Amino acid sequence: MSNLLTHIAISDGKVKRASLEVLSRCKQLAEEHGHTAEAVIIDPDASSYVEQVKQYGPDKIYIVEDPIFKNHINTPLLKALTAIMDEANPYLFAFASTESTKDILGALAANQDAAVLSDVSGFDLTDSGIEATRPVMAAKILSDSQAVGDKILVSVRSGSYELVESPSNPEIVKIDYSFDESELKTTLRDILGASGDKIDLSEAETIVAAGRGAKDEEGQKLIHQLAEVLNAAVGASRALTEAGIVNPSLQIGQTGKVVSPQLYIAVGISGAIQHVAGMANSKVIVAINKDPDAPIFDIADYGIVGDLYKVLPPFIEELKKIKA
Ligand code: FAD
Repeated sequence: MSNLLTHIAISDGKVKRASLEVLSRCKQLAEEHGHTAEAVIIDPDASSYVEQVKQYGPDKIYIVEDPIFKNHINTPLLKALTAIMDEANPYLFAFASTESTKDILGALAANQDAAVLSDVSGFDLTDSGIEATRPVMAAKILSDSQAVGDKILVSVRSGSYELVESPSNPEIVKIDYSFDESELKTTLRDILGASGDKIDLSEAETIVAAGRGAKDEEGQKLIHQLAEVLNAAVGASRALTEAGIVNPSLQIGQTGKVVSPQLYIAVGISGAIQHVAGMANSKVIVAINKDPDAPIFDIADYGIVGDLYKVLPPFIEELKKIKA
């Protein structure tokens, strides 16, 4: 019997949904293959998240608490992850594919002499390791990759798995940890705030994304009205971030955020490959575009061919009525 360990990411005082998706997947694999599913929380207030994480069925939860984890800094985090791997000896250590994970996974793999597959959209256990599907070439191609060994790291795109609640009564193990700040070779001076948008794009269930077609004030107003009625996050194509109309932190795509909501509504977006790279994993894609040949319709589940200034007002009104 081996151990499938999941890292639980905390951001702005909340457990990242993507981590719980990964834990749900590991729990399912543990049950199928007769392994244990364990989780680790690294945060100044790690204990306060235990109740929530328990709902997803881990057999054991490790907690590492220290004020140093208030912000993401690689050196102390690497030290904590190394301590956890030494203690838990996982066969598989799975992460949500967040910015922080991207920052540290390579270093952890080198440090632990582990195989690593990053940013996958699905994975399974094999007799000798894992096999995984990775979107590559701006998500135009899905590659099948394998990692072989007895110590494997994997990071998983958000939205790749459903949340499955299966409450457990796990053993809680507190890992002794201390970090001498004088060991730090770099100092974090400031974190520049993001857009201040209410809903985190990478965790959003619904996203309304605006493209060049909705670049003027009226278009932006309609986008925000639609987002409000759907309780959705607002995103944008690079055409709008480059033009300074939308904050760059809201850009979706190859050089922006990778998102995977349940519902993605692309308004006035052509569907360039670099945009699609960031949203192709969405469950249901709706496109509104006046050009019937726009490439976005190739990947859309539902399409409305029309002028967004004419389509959106009655659409928003109908949604308001349904909600009322
Ligand atoms: P356009 O391609 O100009 O499309 C606008 C669409 O709006 C058209 O299809 C048009 O028919 C429609 N439209 C216009 N008026 C209306 C109306 N009234 N009603 C309905 N529809 C209307 N792009 C990204 O988005 N994200 C990235 O991360 C990204 N990274 C890139 C990285 C590199 C290296 C490069 C080279 C490019 C990158 N791009 C990225 C840019 C990308 O190639 C496209 O230029 C960009 O996505 C186009 O944005 P758009 O669809 O909003 O604009």
